[in-house]
Amino acid sequence: MNIHEYQAKQLLREYGLPVSGGRIVQKADEAKSAASELDGPIWVVKAQIHAGGRGKGKFKEATAGEKGGVRVTKSVSDAADEAQKMLGRTLVTHQTGPVGKVVNRVYIEDGSDIARELYLALLVDRGSSRISFVCSTEGGMDIEEVAAKTPEKILTFTIDPASGISGFHGRKVAFALGLEGKQVKQCVDMIGKLYKLFVERDAEMIEINPLIVTTAGDLKCLDAKMGFDGNALYRQPEILALRDETEEDPKELAASKFDLNYIALDGEIGCMVNGAGLAMATMDIIKLYGSEPANFLDVGGGATKEKVTEAFKIITSDPNVKGILVNIFGGIMRCDIIAEGVIAAVKETGLKVPLVVRLEGTNVELGKQIIRDSGLNVIAADDLSDAAEKIVKAVKG
Ligand code: ADP
Ligand code: MG
Repeated sequence: MNIHEYQAKQLLREYGLPVSGGRIVQKADEAKSAASELDGPIWVVKAQIHAGGRGKGKFKEATAGEKGGVRVTKSVSDAADEAQKMLGRTLVTHQTGPVGKVVNRVYIEDGSDIARELYLALLVDRGSSRISFVCSTEGGMDIEEVAAKTPEKILTFTIDPASGISGFHGRKVAFALGLEGKQVKQCVDMIGKLYKLFVERDAEMIEINPLIVTTAGDLKCLDAKMGFDGNALYRQPEILALRDETEEDPKELAASKFDLNYIALDGEIGCMVNGAGLAMATMDIIKLYGSEPANFLDVGGGATKEKVTEAFKIITSDPNVKGILVNIFGGIMRCDIIAEGVIAAVKETGLKVPLVVRLEGTNVELGKQIIRDSGLNVIAADDLSDAAEKIVKAVKG
């Protein structure tokens, strides 16, 4: 689960990390009073969306020369004006894709005088199964571009969980970033606090880009992106409260409410499968037969009829879906439950695309019987490749 920059900065503040003062604005008429609570002389107005690249982003229907999602202003009234111009509009950045994201919140922040822009991130490094710090002197810009063109400018330090964090790690980062004097001590302090936040709050990723050195020579976190482990949210009520559902894919959101493992993809064949391994195999075989999956969906081992119905509704709500493949191996899951769920869902939502069902395992005959008796126009398949071939053929005509 991701959170907004202003929420991430509040967390940084709670852990004693250096961030600027700011005010969040959700309604146009709050902008002026919010800006007037800050001292100036510079007010920076920042669109709050769950995507990076806002500074270089572009609003839809932008006027000629209009700035992107980060605007520097020099008075309370200019700040309020810019905030009002952003609210309710769609911002497109290289991370949002061409559809963009609607700006429902704007953060007005004290402006900083910047001497250097650096990059600092913490993440779970799957290679070493450890938390790592990633840093670069090339902050502020697109880190993907730095990684592609000058990978030697990105350095990674891994933390051994047995010995934990120590001043030594902070000094290594400070050295890599070319910090000097009091900045080294500030960096050591920062690294320790970030690590503590990361572990205590079950974070998956914290990215500070840019981490700046101010003209006065101090470190400050000027941007902050944070993601948290969805499986740990049950024990992080304060983090969960920061969830902004308007930022999430509505299909993935609906799926999460029913405890379904669903990820939207951009192909044309909707899949309903039980078991993550079988779901991966199903996606692979759809590709093998020349098409692309529209989603990953694992309904899980002990799915109920309601869960299956919901899963089916989510798949059919996707306009890209040109055909559906249900592929179930009933071990714990019973084939008759799946069959009943599919029929209930089709009765509720109607079936406008071809549907191939492959059932195998517990109560398979009963499941097939239920589908045959339903009178629905379902194409039956015997095994995985037969099923994939049939659905691809049905979709491609
Ligand atoms: P994004 O990464 O989404 O483009 P950032 O918060 O990193 O958004 O802002 C982009 C750039 O805008 C920064 O690299 C920095 O140069 C400038 N900027 C952002 N916040 C401030 C601020 N409070 N004061 C001065 N400049 C800022
Ligand atoms: Mg940034």
